Amino acid sequence: MSEQPSTTDTAPAIKATVLAARQIFDSGVSRSIEWRLAQLQAMNRMLTEHQVEFSNALAADLGKHPSESWLTEIGFLTAEIAHTIKHLRGWLAPSSVSVPLALQPAKASTILEPLGVVLVIAPWNYPIQLLLAPVIGALAAGNTVVAKPSEIATSSSSALARWVPHYLSGAVTIVEGGIPETTALLEERFDHIFYTGNGRVGRIVMAAAAKHLTPVSLELGGKSPVYVDESVDMAAAAARIAWGKFMNAGQTCVAPDYVLGTENALASLAQELPGAIHALYGAEPSHSLAYGRMISDGAFERIAGLLATDLGENRDAVLVSGGDTDAATRYIEPTVVHVDAEAALMEGEIFGPVLPLVTVAGVEDAIAFITAREKPLSLYVFSEDQTVRKAFTERTSSGALTFGVPVAHLLVPGLPFGGVGESGMGSYHGRHSVETFSHRKAVLEKALSPDTLSLVYPPFGSLTKQI
Ligand code: NAD
Repeated sequence: MSEQPSTTDTAPAIKATVLAARQIFDSGVSRSIEWRLAQLQAMNRMLTEHQVEFSNALAADLGKHPSESWLTEIGFLTAEIAHTIKHLRGWLAPSSVSVPLALQPAKASTILEPLGVVLVIAPWNYPIQLLLAPVIGALAAGNTVVAKPSEIATSSSSALARWVPHYLSGAVTIVEGGIPETTALLEERFDHIFYTGNGRVGRIVMAAAAKHLTPVSLELGGKSPVYVDESVDMAAAAARIAWGKFMNAGQTCVAPDYVLGTENALASLAQELPGAIHALYGAEPSHSLAYGRMISDGAFERIAGLLATDLGENRDAVLVSGGDTDAATRYIEPTVVHVDAEAALMEGEIFGPVLPLVTVAGVEDAIAFITAREKPLSLYVFSEDQTVRKAFTERTSSGALTFGVPVAHLLVPGLPFGGVGESGMGSYHGRHSVETFSHRKAVLEKALSPDTLSLVYPPFGSLTKQI
Protein backbone atom coordinates (compact mmCIF):
# COMPACT_ATOMS: atom_id res chain seq x y z
CA MET A 1 0.00 0.00 0.00
CA SER A 2 1.30 3.48 -0.90
CA GLU A 3 2.65 5.63 1.93
CA GLN A 4 1.40 8.74 0.13
CA PRO A 5 -1.68 10.20 1.75
CA SER A 6 -4.45 10.05 -0.82
CA THR A 7 -8.10 10.79 -0.84
CA THR A 8 -10.50 7.89 -0.99
CA ASP A 9 -13.88 7.17 -2.43
CA THR A 10 -15.02 6.58 1.12
CA ALA A 11 -14.10 10.13 2.22
CA PRO A 12 -17.71 11.42 1.99
CA ALA A 13 -18.94 8.41 3.98
CA ILE A 14 -16.23 9.05 6.58
CA LYS A 15 -17.29 12.70 6.84
CA ALA A 16 -20.89 11.57 7.35
CA THR A 17 -19.81 9.06 10.01
CA VAL A 18 -17.99 11.71 12.01
CA LEU A 19 -20.92 14.10 11.64
CA ALA A 20 -23.33 11.44 12.92
CA ALA A 21 -21.07 10.77 15.93
CA ARG A 22 -21.03 14.50 16.62
CA GLN A 23 -24.79 14.82 16.34
CA ILE A 24 -25.24 12.05 18.88
CA PHE A 25 -22.74 13.70 21.21
CA ASP A 26 -24.41 17.08 20.75
CA SER A 27 -27.79 15.57 21.61
CA GLY A 28 -26.45 15.17 25.16
CA VAL A 29 -27.42 11.50 25.43
CA SER A 30 -23.87 10.31 26.15
CA ARG A 31 -23.45 12.53 29.19
CA SER A 32 -25.50 10.48 31.63
CA ILE A 33 -23.73 7.87 33.72
CA GLU A 34 -26.50 5.40 32.86
CA TRP A 35 -25.76 5.69 29.12
CA ARG A 36 -22.04 5.20 29.75
CA LEU A 37 -22.57 2.15 31.95
CA ALA A 38 -25.01 0.69 29.42
CA GLN A 39 -22.38 0.97 26.65
CA LEU A 40 -19.76 -0.73 28.80
CA GLN A 41 -22.17 -3.53 29.66
CA ALA A 42 -23.03 -3.91 25.97
CA MET A 43 -19.35 -4.18 25.07
CA ASN A 44 -18.93 -6.79 27.78
CA ARG A 45 -21.81 -8.78 26.32
CA MET A 46 -20.33 -8.52 22.84
CA LEU A 47 -16.99 -9.87 24.04
CA THR A 48 -18.46 -12.75 26.01
CA GLU A 49 -21.15 -13.75 23.51
CA HIS A 50 -18.67 -13.72 20.59
CA GLN A 51 -15.55 -14.73 22.45
CA VAL A 52 -14.97 -17.70 20.17
CA GLU A 53 -15.25 -15.62 17.02
CA PHE A 54 -12.87 -12.97 18.34
CA SER A 55 -10.48 -15.67 19.49
CA ASN A 56 -10.60 -17.35 16.08
CA ALA A 57 -9.89 -14.02 14.39
CA LEU A 58 -6.82 -13.55 16.58
CA ALA A 59 -5.69 -17.08 15.76
CA ALA A 60 -6.11 -16.37 12.04
CA ASP A 61 -4.22 -13.07 12.21
CA LEU A 62 -1.44 -13.95 14.61
CA GLY A 63 -1.64 -17.64 15.47
CA LYS A 64 -2.67 -16.72 19.02
CA HIS A 65 -3.67 -19.52 21.35
CA PRO A 66 -7.16 -18.95 22.87
CA SER A 67 -5.67 -18.77 26.38
CA GLU A 68 -3.24 -16.06 25.30
CA SER A 69 -6.08 -14.25 23.53
CA TRP A 70 -8.07 -14.36 26.75
CA LEU A 71 -5.18 -13.17 28.93
CA THR A 72 -3.98 -10.38 26.66
CA GLU A 73 -7.06 -9.33 24.70
CA ILE A 74 -10.60 -10.48 25.49
CA GLY A 75 -10.28 -11.20 29.22
CA PHE A 76 -8.06 -8.15 29.55
CA LEU A 77 -10.92 -6.05 28.17
CA THR A 78 -13.65 -7.63 30.30
CA ALA A 79 -11.48 -6.98 33.39
CA GLU A 80 -10.99 -3.35 32.31
CA ILE A 81 -14.75 -2.99 31.81
CA ALA A 82 -15.52 -4.51 35.24
CA HIS A 83 -12.98 -2.22 36.93
CA THR A 84 -14.40 0.83 35.14
CA ILE A 85 -18.03 -0.02 35.91
CA LYS A 86 -17.15 -0.57 39.57
CA HIS A 87 -15.35 2.75 40.01
CA LEU A 88 -16.90 5.09 37.46
CA ARG A 89 -19.24 6.96 39.81
CA GLY A 90 -16.39 7.59 42.23
CA TRP A 91 -14.05 8.80 39.48
CA LEU A 92 -16.69 11.19 38.16
CA ALA A 93 -17.52 12.70 41.56
CA PRO A 94 -16.64 16.40 41.74
CA SER A 95 -13.39 17.01 43.56
CA SER A 96 -13.48 19.98 45.92
CA VAL A 97 -10.68 22.51 46.11
CA SER A 98 -9.95 24.91 48.98
CA VAL A 99 -10.77 28.59 48.45
CA PRO A 100 -8.36 31.32 49.65
CA LEU A 101 -9.58 33.34 52.62
CA ALA A 102 -9.90 36.53 50.56
CA LEU A 103 -12.51 34.90 48.31
CA GLN A 104 -14.59 33.22 50.99
CA PRO A 105 -17.40 32.43 51.37
CA ALA A 106 -17.25 30.40 48.14
CA LYS A 107 -17.04 26.81 46.92
CA ALA A 108 -14.51 25.57 44.33
CA SER A 109 -14.37 22.19 42.67
CA THR A 110 -13.31 20.40 39.52
CA ILE A 111 -15.58 18.21 37.44
CA LEU A 112 -14.82 15.90 34.55
CA GLU A 113 -16.73 16.71 31.39
CA PRO A 114 -16.69 14.69 28.16
CA LEU A 115 -14.63 16.07 25.28
CA GLY A 116 -16.94 15.18 22.37
CA VAL A 117 -16.05 12.85 19.50
CA VAL A 118 -12.95 10.69 19.95
CA LEU A 119 -10.96 9.03 17.16
CA VAL A 120 -9.15 5.78 18.06
CA ILE A 121 -6.59 4.37 15.60
CA ALA A 122 -5.28 0.91 16.49
CA PRO A 123 -2.37 -1.31 15.36
CA TRP A 124 -2.33 -4.97 14.40
CA ASN A 125 -0.38 -6.64 17.19
CA TYR A 126 -3.15 -6.75 19.84
CA PRO A 127 -5.81 -5.73 17.35
CA ILE A 128 -8.87 -6.13 19.57
CA GLN A 129 -7.44 -5.04 22.91
CA LEU A 130 -5.70 -1.94 21.53
CA LEU A 131 -8.83 -0.79 19.72
CA LEU A 132 -11.35 -1.42 22.49
CA ALA A 133 -9.33 -0.52 25.62
CA PRO A 134 -9.20 3.18 24.71
CA VAL A 135 -12.86 2.97 23.59
CA ILE A 136 -13.79 1.82 27.12
CA GLY A 137 -12.22 4.98 28.55
CA ALA A 138 -13.72 7.24 25.90
CA LEU A 139 -17.25 5.88 26.52
CA ALA A 140 -16.83 5.93 30.30
CA ALA A 141 -15.93 9.59 29.98
CA GLY A 142 -19.16 10.24 28.04
CA ASN A 143 -17.84 10.64 24.50
CA THR A 144 -18.92 9.13 21.21
CA VAL A 145 -16.23 7.27 19.27
CA VAL A 146 -15.04 6.60 15.75
CA ALA A 147 -12.58 3.68 15.80
CA LYS A 148 -10.30 2.39 13.06
CA PRO A 149 -8.84 -1.10 13.46
CA SER A 150 -5.58 -1.99 11.74
CA GLU A 151 -6.05 -3.15 8.17
CA ILE A 152 -3.16 -5.57 8.67
CA ALA A 153 -5.03 -7.74 11.21
CA THR A 154 -7.76 -8.43 8.67
CA SER A 155 -9.77 -11.06 10.56
CA SER A 156 -9.88 -9.04 13.78
CA SER A 157 -10.86 -5.93 11.85
CA SER A 158 -13.76 -7.83 10.20
CA ALA A 159 -14.95 -9.30 13.50
CA LEU A 160 -15.00 -5.83 15.08
CA ALA A 161 -16.77 -4.30 12.09
CA ARG A 162 -19.35 -7.07 12.27
CA TRP A 163 -20.23 -6.98 15.96
CA VAL A 164 -19.58 -3.47 17.25
CA PRO A 165 -22.57 -1.99 15.34
CA HIS A 166 -24.86 -4.63 16.91
CA TYR A 167 -23.90 -3.76 20.46
CA LEU A 168 -22.67 -0.18 20.41
CA SER A 169 -24.75 1.47 17.74
CA GLY A 170 -24.74 5.24 18.15
CA ALA A 171 -21.86 5.09 20.59
CA VAL A 172 -19.02 3.64 18.51
CA THR A 173 -18.64 3.50 14.74
CA ILE A 174 -15.99 1.27 13.20
CA VAL A 175 -14.29 2.56 10.06
CA GLU A 176 -12.24 -0.14 8.37
CA GLY A 177 -9.41 0.66 6.02
CA GLY A 178 -5.77 1.62 5.63
CA ILE A 179 -3.84 4.77 4.87
CA PRO A 180 -6.42 6.45 2.57
CA GLU A 181 -9.22 5.95 5.10
CA THR A 182 -7.05 7.06 8.02
CA THR A 183 -5.92 10.09 6.04
CA ALA A 184 -9.56 10.97 5.33
CA LEU A 185 -10.43 10.53 9.02
CA LEU A 186 -7.55 12.78 10.03
CA GLU A 187 -8.94 15.57 7.83
CA GLU A 188 -11.98 15.69 10.13
CA ARG A 189 -12.20 17.57 13.37
CA PHE A 190 -12.17 15.42 16.52
CA ASP A 191 -12.00 16.36 20.18
CA HIS A 192 -9.30 13.81 20.99
CA ILE A 193 -7.23 11.47 18.83
CA PHE A 194 -5.86 8.33 20.44
CA TYR A 195 -3.24 6.64 18.25
CA THR A 196 -1.36 3.41 18.97
CA GLY A 197 1.41 2.37 16.60
CA ASN A 198 4.80 3.55 15.41
CA GLY A 199 6.40 6.96 15.85
CA ARG A 200 6.55 7.74 12.12
CA VAL A 201 2.77 7.61 11.82
CA GLY A 202 2.49 9.20 15.27
CA ARG A 203 4.08 12.31 13.75
CA ILE A 204 1.54 12.28 10.88
CA VAL A 205 -1.30 12.01 13.39
CA MET A 206 0.03 14.84 15.54
CA ALA A 207 0.54 17.13 12.55
CA ALA A 208 -3.04 16.46 11.37
CA ALA A 209 -4.38 17.06 14.89
CA ALA A 210 -2.53 20.38 15.11
CA LYS A 211 -4.70 21.81 12.31
CA HIS A 212 -7.74 21.55 14.59
CA LEU A 213 -5.86 22.02 17.89
CA THR A 214 -7.03 18.52 18.80
CA PRO A 215 -5.29 16.92 21.78
CA VAL A 216 -3.58 13.59 21.06
CA SER A 217 -2.47 10.52 22.95
CA LEU A 218 0.35 8.71 21.18
CA GLU A 219 0.99 5.16 22.38
CA LEU A 220 4.22 4.30 20.57
CA GLY A 221 6.93 1.69 20.85
CA GLY A 222 10.70 1.47 20.99
CA LYS A 223 13.34 -0.80 22.47
CA SER A 224 12.39 -1.79 26.03
CA PRO A 225 15.57 -2.94 27.81
CA VAL A 226 16.09 -5.54 30.51
CA TYR A 227 18.91 -5.35 33.03
CA VAL A 228 19.84 -8.50 34.90
CA ASP A 229 22.51 -9.03 37.53
CA GLU A 230 23.91 -12.01 39.38
CA SER A 231 21.97 -11.34 42.59
CA VAL A 232 18.81 -12.95 41.17
CA ASP A 233 17.61 -16.53 40.84
CA MET A 234 18.60 -16.78 37.18
CA ALA A 235 16.29 -19.68 36.29
CA ALA A 236 13.29 -17.70 37.60
CA ALA A 237 14.42 -14.54 35.78
CA ALA A 238 14.88 -16.50 32.54
CA ALA A 239 11.35 -17.92 32.82
CA ARG A 240 9.86 -14.43 33.23
CA ILE A 241 11.96 -12.85 30.47
CA ALA A 242 11.13 -15.67 28.02
CA TRP A 243 7.41 -15.35 28.84
CA GLY A 244 7.38 -11.58 28.22
CA LYS A 245 9.56 -11.76 25.13
CA PHE A 246 8.07 -14.65 23.18
CA MET A 247 4.38 -14.00 23.91
CA ASN A 248 2.67 -13.10 20.60
CA ALA A 249 5.95 -14.13 18.90
CA GLY A 250 7.66 -11.02 20.26
CA GLN A 251 5.16 -8.64 18.62
CA THR A 252 4.34 -6.79 21.83
CA CYS A 253 5.04 -3.09 22.31
CA VAL A 254 6.26 -3.75 25.87
CA ALA A 255 8.19 -6.95 25.05
CA PRO A 256 11.70 -7.05 26.47
CA ASP A 257 13.69 -5.93 23.42
CA TYR A 258 17.21 -6.80 24.59
CA VAL A 259 19.03 -7.75 27.79
CA LEU A 260 21.97 -5.92 29.34
CA GLY A 261 24.22 -7.59 31.92
CA THR A 262 27.81 -8.31 32.81
CA GLU A 263 29.59 -11.15 31.05
CA ASN A 264 28.95 -13.47 34.01
CA ALA A 265 25.30 -12.50 34.42
CA LEU A 266 24.59 -13.01 30.71
CA ALA A 267 26.49 -16.31 30.64
CA SER A 268 24.32 -17.58 33.44
CA LEU A 269 21.13 -16.21 31.80
CA ALA A 270 22.13 -17.78 28.47
CA GLN A 271 22.38 -21.13 30.23
CA GLU A 272 18.86 -20.84 31.60
CA LEU A 273 16.97 -19.34 28.64
CA PRO A 274 16.87 -22.44 26.39
CA GLY A 275 15.26 -24.44 29.23
CA ALA A 276 12.81 -21.62 29.93
CA ILE A 277 11.79 -21.51 26.24
CA HIS A 278 11.47 -25.30 26.19
CA ALA A 279 9.21 -25.16 29.25
CA LEU A 280 6.89 -22.70 27.46
CA TYR A 281 6.82 -24.16 23.95
CA GLY A 282 8.39 -27.64 24.09
CA ALA A 283 11.39 -28.91 22.17
CA GLU A 284 9.88 -27.93 18.83
CA PRO A 285 8.06 -24.56 19.18
CA SER A 286 6.76 -24.82 15.59
CA HIS A 287 4.51 -27.63 16.86
CA SER A 288 3.30 -25.70 19.89
CA LEU A 289 -0.22 -24.27 19.72
CA ALA A 290 0.90 -21.72 22.30
CA TYR A 291 3.45 -20.13 19.99
CA GLY A 292 2.41 -17.43 17.50
CA ARG A 293 3.48 -16.43 14.00
CA MET A 294 4.69 -13.23 12.39
CA ILE A 295 1.78 -11.08 11.21
CA SER A 296 2.93 -10.81 7.58
CA ASP A 297 5.55 -11.93 5.06
CA GLY A 298 7.14 -8.50 5.34
CA ALA A 299 7.46 -8.80 9.12
CA PHE A 300 8.89 -12.30 8.72
CA GLU A 301 11.48 -11.13 6.19
CA ARG A 302 12.51 -8.17 8.34
CA ILE A 303 13.28 -10.37 11.37
CA ALA A 304 14.89 -13.15 9.33
CA GLY A 305 16.99 -10.49 7.60
CA LEU A 306 18.19 -8.97 10.89
CA LEU A 307 19.19 -12.42 12.14
CA ALA A 308 20.98 -13.29 8.89
CA THR A 309 22.85 -9.98 8.97
CA ASP A 310 24.06 -10.37 12.54
CA LEU A 311 24.88 -14.06 12.26
CA GLY A 312 26.53 -13.60 8.87
CA GLU A 313 30.22 -13.33 8.18
CA ASN A 314 32.15 -10.39 9.62
CA ARG A 315 29.78 -10.09 12.57
CA ASP A 316 30.53 -11.04 16.15
CA ALA A 317 27.06 -12.31 17.02
CA VAL A 318 26.87 -15.75 18.62
CA LEU A 319 23.69 -17.83 18.50
CA VAL A 320 22.68 -19.06 21.98
CA SER A 321 19.53 -20.93 20.96
CA GLY A 322 16.87 -21.05 18.25
CA GLY A 323 17.42 -19.50 14.83
CA ASP A 324 15.12 -21.72 12.73
CA THR A 325 12.76 -19.99 10.34
CA ASP A 326 10.06 -21.04 7.88
CA ALA A 327 8.87 -18.43 5.41
CA ALA A 328 5.83 -20.47 4.30
CA THR A 329 4.30 -20.37 7.80
CA ARG A 330 5.95 -17.08 8.87
CA TYR A 331 7.57 -19.01 11.73
CA ILE A 332 10.58 -17.70 13.58
CA GLU A 333 11.84 -19.88 16.40
CA PRO A 334 12.28 -18.20 19.79
CA THR A 335 15.88 -17.10 19.40
CA VAL A 336 18.56 -15.85 21.79
CA VAL A 337 21.73 -14.32 20.44
CA HIS A 338 24.78 -12.58 21.94
CA VAL A 339 25.48 -9.36 20.02
CA ASP A 340 27.42 -6.13 20.44
CA ALA A 341 25.88 -2.67 20.53
CA GLU A 342 26.53 -2.15 16.80
CA ALA A 343 24.49 -5.18 15.72
CA ALA A 344 21.64 -4.72 13.23
CA LEU A 345 19.32 -6.11 15.92
CA MET A 346 20.24 -3.17 18.16
CA GLU A 347 19.24 -0.46 15.66
CA GLY A 348 15.44 -0.29 15.91
CA GLU A 349 12.65 -1.96 17.86
CA ILE A 350 12.87 -5.69 17.04
CA PHE A 351 9.17 -6.53 17.35
CA GLY A 352 9.79 -10.23 16.82
CA PRO A 353 10.96 -13.31 18.74
CA VAL A 354 14.69 -12.59 18.83
CA LEU A 355 16.33 -11.68 22.13
CA PRO A 356 19.80 -10.10 21.93
CA LEU A 357 22.09 -10.19 24.96
CA VAL A 358 24.49 -7.23 25.16
CA THR A 359 27.40 -7.21 27.59
CA VAL A 360 27.98 -4.15 29.77
CA ALA A 361 30.57 -3.54 32.51
CA GLY A 362 27.96 -3.18 35.27
CA VAL A 363 25.04 -1.12 36.46
CA GLU A 364 26.64 2.27 35.67
CA ASP A 365 27.42 1.15 32.14
CA ALA A 366 23.86 -0.19 31.72
CA ILE A 367 22.33 3.10 32.87
CA ALA A 368 24.63 5.02 30.51
CA PHE A 369 23.64 2.65 27.67
CA ILE A 370 19.93 3.19 28.29
CA THR A 371 20.03 6.94 28.86
CA ALA A 372 22.11 7.47 25.69
CA ARG A 373 19.14 6.12 23.70
CA GLU A 374 15.49 7.15 23.26
CA LYS A 375 13.28 6.85 26.36
CA PRO A 376 11.75 3.36 26.30
CA LEU A 377 8.13 2.37 26.84
CA SER A 378 9.21 -0.02 29.62
CA LEU A 379 12.35 -0.87 31.52
CA TYR A 380 12.70 -4.19 33.33
CA VAL A 381 15.23 -4.71 36.11
CA PHE A 382 16.11 -8.07 37.62
CA SER A 383 18.21 -7.41 40.72
CA GLU A 384 17.82 -8.09 44.42
CA ASP A 385 20.21 -5.24 45.19
CA GLN A 386 18.27 -2.23 46.50
CA THR A 387 20.99 0.22 45.46
CA VAL A 388 20.69 -1.06 41.89
CA ARG A 389 16.89 -0.70 41.98
CA LYS A 390 17.22 2.83 43.39
CA ALA A 391 19.75 3.78 40.69
CA PHE A 392 17.35 2.70 37.89
CA THR A 393 14.38 4.38 39.58
CA GLU A 394 16.11 7.71 40.03
CA ARG A 395 18.39 7.93 37.01
CA THR A 396 16.46 6.52 34.06
CA SER A 397 13.25 7.61 32.32
CA SER A 398 10.73 5.22 30.77
CA GLY A 399 6.97 4.84 30.41
CA ALA A 400 7.07 2.15 33.11
CA LEU A 401 9.69 0.54 35.33
CA THR A 402 9.25 -2.91 36.81
CA PHE A 403 11.33 -5.15 39.01
CA GLY A 404 11.26 -8.91 38.63
CA VAL A 405 8.62 -9.20 35.90
CA PRO A 406 8.18 -7.80 32.40
CA VAL A 407 4.86 -6.83 30.77
CA ALA A 408 2.67 -7.56 33.83
CA HIS A 409 2.28 -3.88 34.78
CA LEU A 410 -0.42 -3.79 32.09
CA LEU A 411 -2.48 -6.16 34.18
CA VAL A 412 -2.72 -3.67 37.06
CA PRO A 413 -5.74 -1.53 36.15
CA GLY A 414 -4.77 1.25 38.55
CA LEU A 415 -1.43 1.88 36.83
CA PRO A 416 -1.27 4.39 33.98
CA PHE A 417 -0.05 2.89 30.71
CA GLY A 418 1.83 5.12 28.31
CA GLY A 419 5.20 6.24 27.07
CA VAL A 420 7.48 9.22 27.46
CA GLY A 421 9.53 11.02 24.82
CA GLU A 422 9.90 8.86 21.71
CA SER A 423 7.75 6.09 23.27
CA GLY A 424 4.72 8.36 23.33
CA MET A 425 2.65 10.89 25.25
CA GLY A 426 -0.40 10.57 27.45
CA SER A 427 -1.55 7.49 29.30
CA TYR A 428 -4.64 5.38 29.85
CA HIS A 429 -6.24 2.36 31.61
CA GLY A 430 -8.77 2.62 34.41
CA ARG A 431 -9.23 6.09 35.83
CA HIS A 432 -6.34 7.38 33.74
CA SER A 433 -8.44 6.66 30.63
CA VAL A 434 -11.35 8.62 32.04
CA GLU A 435 -9.01 11.55 32.78
CA THR A 436 -7.50 11.32 29.29
CA PHE A 437 -10.86 11.48 27.53
CA SER A 438 -12.30 14.23 29.76
CA HIS A 439 -11.73 17.89 30.34
CA ARG A 440 -11.19 18.68 34.01
CA LYS A 441 -13.29 21.80 34.35
CA ALA A 442 -12.79 24.38 37.10
CA VAL A 443 -16.01 25.42 38.85
CA LEU A 444 -16.36 28.28 41.33
CA GLU A 445 -19.58 29.19 43.16
CA LYS A 446 -19.84 32.39 45.17
CA ALA A 447 -23.03 33.81 46.58
CA LEU A 448 -23.84 37.42 45.54
CA SER A 449 -24.38 38.31 49.13
CA PRO A 450 -22.46 39.15 51.28
CA ASP A 451 -20.39 40.91 48.61
CA THR A 452 -16.95 40.45 50.10
CA LEU A 453 -15.42 41.32 46.73
CA SER A 454 -16.50 44.96 47.12
CA LEU A 455 -13.15 45.44 48.89
CA VAL A 456 -11.27 45.02 45.62
CA TYR A 457 -13.62 46.94 43.28
CA PRO A 458 -12.55 50.38 41.95
CA PRO A 459 -12.46 53.20 42.69
CA PHE A 460 -9.39 52.44 44.77
CA GLY A 461 -9.67 55.42 47.07
CA SER A 462 -6.45 56.23 48.95
CA LEU A 463 -4.44 53.86 46.75
CA THR A 464 -5.29 55.93 43.61
CA LYS A 465 -4.30 59.18 45.35
CA GLN A 466 -0.86 57.81 46.32
CA ILE A 467 -0.05 56.86 42.71
P1 NAD B 1 0.02 -0.54 11.96
O1 NAD B 1 0.85 -0.65 10.74
O2 NAD B 1 -1.21 -1.37 12.10
O3 NAD B 1 -0.34 1.00 12.09
C1 NAD B 1 -1.12 1.50 13.16
C2 NAD B 1 -2.28 2.29 12.59
O4 NAD B 1 -1.79 3.40 11.86
C3 NAD B 1 -3.15 1.48 11.65
O5 NAD B 1 -4.51 1.67 12.00
C4 NAD B 1 -2.82 2.04 10.30
O6 NAD B 1 -3.89 1.99 9.39
C5 NAD B 1 -2.45 3.47 10.60
N1 NAD B 1 -1.52 4.02 9.60
C6 NAD B 1 -0.47 3.38 9.06
N2 NAD B 1 0.17 4.21 8.20
C7 NAD B 1 -0.51 5.39 8.22
C8 NAD B 1 -0.33 6.65 7.55
N3 NAD B 1 0.66 6.86 6.69
N4 NAD B 1 -1.21 7.63 7.82
C9 NAD B 1 -2.21 7.44 8.69
N5 NAD B 1 -2.42 6.27 9.35
C10 NAD B 1 -1.59 5.26 9.12
O7 NAD B 1 0.86 -0.84 13.26
P2 NAD B 1 2.39 -0.54 13.53
O8 NAD B 1 2.65 0.92 13.57
O9 NAD B 1 3.25 -1.41 12.71
O10 NAD B 1 2.41 -1.09 15.04
C11 NAD B 1 3.57 -1.49 15.61
C12 NAD B 1 4.16 -0.36 16.44
O11 NAD B 1 3.22 0.04 17.40
C13 NAD B 1 5.38 -0.79 17.20
O12 NAD B 1 6.32 0.25 17.21
C14 NAD B 1 4.84 -1.02 18.60
O13 NAD B 1 5.80 -0.91 19.62
C15 NAD B 1 3.81 0.05 18.67
N6 NAD B 1 2.81 -0.29 19.65
C16 NAD B 1 2.67 0.48 20.74
C17 NAD B 1 1.74 0.14 21.70
C18 NAD B 1 1.52 0.95 22.94
O14 NAD B 1 0.52 0.72 23.59
N7 NAD B 1 2.39 1.89 23.27
C19 NAD B 1 0.95 -0.99 21.53
C20 NAD B 1 1.13 -1.75 20.38
C21 NAD B 1 2.04 -1.38 19.45
